Amino acid sequence: SAPSRRRYTITLLPGDGIGPEIVSVAKNVLELAGSIEGIEFGFKEMPIGGAALDVAGVPLPEETLSVAKESDAVLLGAIGGYKWDNNEKQLKPETGLLQLRAGLKVFANLRPATVLPQLVDASTLKKEVAEGVDLMVVRELTGGIYFGRPRGFTTNDNGEKTGFNTEVYSSSEVDRIARVGFETARKRHGKLCSVDKANVLEASMLWRERVTEISSEYPDVELTHMYVDNAAMQLLRYPKQFDTIVTNNIFGDILSDEASMITGSIGMLPSASLGESGPGLFEPIHGSAPDIAGQDKANPLATVLSVAMLLRYGLGEGKAAERIETAVLETLNKGFRTGDIYSAGNKLVGCKEMGEQVLKAVDSRV
Ligand code: ATP
Ligand code: MG
Repeated sequence: SAPSRRRYTITLLPGDGIGPEIVSVAKNVLELAGSIEGIEFGFKEMPIGGAALDVAGVPLPEETLSVAKESDAVLLGAIGGYKWDNNEKQLKPETGLLQLRAGLKVFANLRPATVLPQLVDASTLKKEVAEGVDLMVVRELTGGIYFGRPRGFTTNDNGEKTGFNTEVYSSSEVDRIARVGFETARKRHGKLCSVDKANVLEASMLWRERVTEISSEYPDVELTHMYVDNAAMQLLRYPKQFDTIVTNNIFGDILSDEASMITGSIGMLPSASLGESGPGLFEPIHGSAPDIAGQDKANPLATVLSVAMLLRYGLGEGKAAERIETAVLETLNKGFRTGDIYSAGNKLVGCKEMGEQVLKAVDSRV
């Protein structure tokens, strides 16, 4: 029997710099892959960041947040640019993104680091170490030392200024990020490595205790534990040992940047931020690249791969996600490259042309 048609509403937040160019490409790819798989989309485009400062005077207008909250998933381009540095009101475009994450209550940040065979030379690691790396960092995003209280400055007994922060996690906070870790590993290759500092920190001891407890719900996932110092080393020594990593806010901040450098290509890396129930937020990890904005030079593939994550992790539409990922690989196989991933012998194309090529590849696999 014919599969039933599914319908979703997607909020598009193009933002600033190259944001509008890359979101436009990704939207077209999402629409085409969806229609082939029996999925219909309704799109609502809203301002955020500098673009919102220009039209509404704030980086995240109330209406943008309410539309985002009511949709099934949110696709963001990028935020910020020279134009809004040091504006009179001292409002920063980037504040809009922090407010959006808080408003959507997205506590889990997923960042894959995949070394594609076509781009293995871009890696900062030796070819034999980089080849075949395909890992995912699941970072807790709304707790830990970045939010823990008390925090601040004080003066110690010697009259010296001191700064202090607090690493705090509750059992329920660890449990819910652990479940995202296990679910993610289950959708990937069934291996989860939990990273902590349980030999030194109480918050990490609780973390390890809870992750171990939750693992009984996922007998099909193989769980290991690693101290963060060792994990930082292992990522460079033998990154292929990792499938899915789950870790706290600060360790995840550091390890996900380290992992992305292994791939060496910022224009290729997507991300997802997920909440308990509401819509997820999907965006490339790179910024607004004001130096190349409006020149049709941006690599749209990080955003295209972000809509693949939107389909898989935001809507549970794995088949459509795979269709897009395969199309990206095919497009690279044909030699098409934007400037940031170009090497001699390939075909240099702009943002729009790269988008057209991906659409062709999506279409050719009907
Ligand atoms: P953030 O806004 O996160 O602080 P940033 O300002 O540090 O980011 P980006 O805006 O990501 O950095 O840009 C860093 C460099 O990478 C720039 O030279 C930019 O042109 C380039 N770059 C970033 N994204 C892309 C892309 N999608 N395609 C091509 N080049 C890119
Ligand atoms: Mg920037």
